[in-house]
Amino acid sequence: MSTIRQRRSSCVPEPLFRRLALIGVGLIGSSIARIARERGDLAAEVVATARSAKTLDRVRELGFADRIEADAARAVTCADCVMLCTPVGAFAEIAAGIVPHLQPGAVLTDVGSTKQSVIRDVGPLVPPGAHFVPAHPVAGTEYSGPDVGFTSLFDGRWALLTPPPGTNERAVAKVEEFWRRCGAMVQRMDAAHHDRAMAIVSHLPHLIAFTICGTANDLAAESRQEVLRFAASGFRDFTRIAASDPVMWRDIFLNNREALLEMLELEDHVERGREIRRGLVELKWAA
Ligand code: NAP
Repeated sequence: MSTIRQRRSSCVPEPLFRRLALIGVGLIGSSIARIARERGDLAAEVVATARSAKTLDRVRELGFADRIEADAARAVTCADCVMLCTPVGAFAEIAAGIVPHLQPGAVLTDVGSTKQSVIRDVGPLVPPGAHFVPAHPVAGTEYSGPDVGFTSLFDGRWALLTPPPGTNERAVAKVEEFWRRCGAMVQRMDAAHHDRAMAIVSHLPHLIAFTICGTANDLAAESRQEVLRFAASGFRDFTRIAASDPVMWRDIFLNNREALLEMLELEDHVERGREIRRGLVELKWAA
């Protein structure tokens, strides 16, 4: 395995972290690794781990990580920054496996699209002396895996940080600087606020796209052909969104369901439906 990279030029500022461990190297993780490689000032060394041997082999071929580890616990050893870049549903189990191996003072952060669930699942596991800084870069595409990352993914996009009260300020400032160096604009906010905002701008549109494309796919063969033949740009946009990874989106929907339901005003619709029924019964129009 290769060792710490040579810094490209003496003009490059000091790297923010000595060793960055990326748990998950799909679209987001591999984009970060590629930026770290290109800039030289994010981390002196990038260690990558993923779930499958296939992905690890591909990361080796692509060559954007300095070291590849099959075992997450080994990947985080001696890392001063550990970033969870897997679907959010896997965070609790991964965190339980790595926290005993975090070095004192390490920053544990993430890129998950939901934030209250991450604070709930990961926060209580973080040992005293390590600093947990939840974050979410609001940037992506419908593609997944280590091949599809690119260095301009976060340019001009938001990175939202939701540090719980009392989080070490130096650790938060370092994660903010990390995202600025990735090209993002940074904002701190409360996790509940984040989840409500994302429910309306991202999660609900995805839910609608999956539902519409699923319905079209369920049509009888003849009607489905018609849909494909006459698909207008609106429908094509839905199909692009609906091409996104199903596991990642399942985890997002499950882990932000309260905010999603609030946006759908589902309870309100049901309640209003019941009121109509009550009204009819009162008018004796229905038994
Ligand atoms: P992705 O391309 O599907 O990559 C996921 C990575 O996580 C893969 O390397 C996968 O390894 C690894 N992984 C999955 N389950 C794992 C487990 N149990 N243990 C270890 N590694 C595991 O996903 P992504 O698009 O980069 O998304 C990653 C995170 O970023 C998610 O939490 C998502 O909510 C968030 N996010 C995504 C977007 C977006 O638009 N895509 C935008 C902002 C934030 P294998 O390949 O070996 O399975």
